[in-house]
Amino acid sequence: MLATDKANSGGMSVLVTNIGELTTQDGEVGTLHDAAVVVNGDRIAWIGPAAQAPAADERIDAGGRAVIPGFVDSHAHLVFAGDRAAEFAARMAGESYTGGGIRTTVAATRAASDDELTAAAGRLVAEMRRQGTTTVEIKSGYGLNVDDEKRSLRIARSLTPETTFLGAHVVPAEYLDRPDEYVALVTGPMLAAAAPYARWIDVFCERGAFDGDQTRAILTAGAEAGLELRVHTNQLTAGPGVQLAVELGAASADHCTHLSDADIDALAASDTVATLLPGAEFSTRSPYPDARRLVDAGVTVALATDCNPGSSYTSSMPFCVALAVREMGLAPAEALWAATAGGARSLRRDDIGVLRPGARADLVLLDAPTFLHLAYRPGVPLIHTVLHNGVPQ
Ligand SMILES: [Zn+2]
Repeated sequence: MLATDKANSGGMSVLVTNIGELTTQDGEVGTLHDAAVVVNGDRIAWIGPAAQAPAADERIDAGGRAVIPGFVDSHAHLVFAGDRAAEFAARMAGESYTGGGIRTTVAATRAASDDELTAAAGRLVAEMRRQGTTTVEIKSGYGLNVDDEKRSLRIARSLTPETTFLGAHVVPAEYLDRPDEYVALVTGPMLAAAAPYARWIDVFCERGAFDGDQTRAILTAGAEAGLELRVHTNQLTAGPGVQLAVELGAASADHCTHLSDADIDALAASDTVATLLPGAEFSTRSPYPDARRLVDAGVTVALATDCNPGSSYTSSMPFCVALAVREMGLAPAEALWAATAGGARSLRRDDIGVLRPGARADLVLLDAPTFLHLAYRPGVPLIHTVLHNGVPQ
């Protein structure tokens, strides 16, 4: 739960009824019509036909709207200062994306106050909430020294329990000629300072960032410090990161744009989720990952925004769903699954991304008769009401 949220701690029950189409993501029968949901406190208590719904303290008439689980955005970089609109404009005028602009944001982030960073991240979380996101993962990675990584994670932890230490985002400017010393810093004092505020550790395994050996060293150190693993990999080029993620038991391999057949086989035979981030391809005008090929091979796929000021400054999960359908070959139901239950898998959570008794009462009423409109009506504000932890936001 986000620390900024109102909490339904008093055990109040709420009946959401007259739901035209309810997508639960629970088992084979994932869609119900003329349904109702009863929320008790911050959990779902009952789901069934509206005509059989029990009484509750409060009643929300969905008016025939579609209801879906709240989106799970399992990949976001929200603790930063400044923006890179000029870089975006230059890229759209023909310059290519290399990841080097991350250092611009590092300089701005280091110069910002705690209050400025907290307010900016909080604004983005609120922006996500208005678009139906009820769980967000937040990474560090714009501090890149011990104190600034620690404070980035402290701020992230005030907003979500799903916090990720990304000291290995890029090698900062002051270590460019001695990257191995930077890896020693990340795996030593920086990890020790970050670990109390982080659930996860992540590495940008990519040409120009960290190679396979460095990635292995950083992830191994993180695991020894009690953190669970995620990897940014195969975004710009094919590389060893997917195989490493699978070998080391990472929860998620993120981007997965340039994959070999062996990478796909390894993912399909593992519990590692492929988290696809089409906002990055959109914003860097790059080829999209082949989600169809992954799903057909049996890989578990998640969708997330990668919200960050450089390569994907969108906070909109509905936009990512639309891209996955239009550009990546997913059926609308597959894209919605990836944006809810898939994201939950990538965070190793079974209490979110699904609507069933006992799950968190995170649900979204759409201004539409069916979830199909998320992809069918791109760019349209379809989020009518968001219940988070049982409370209308
Ligand atoms: Zn990212």
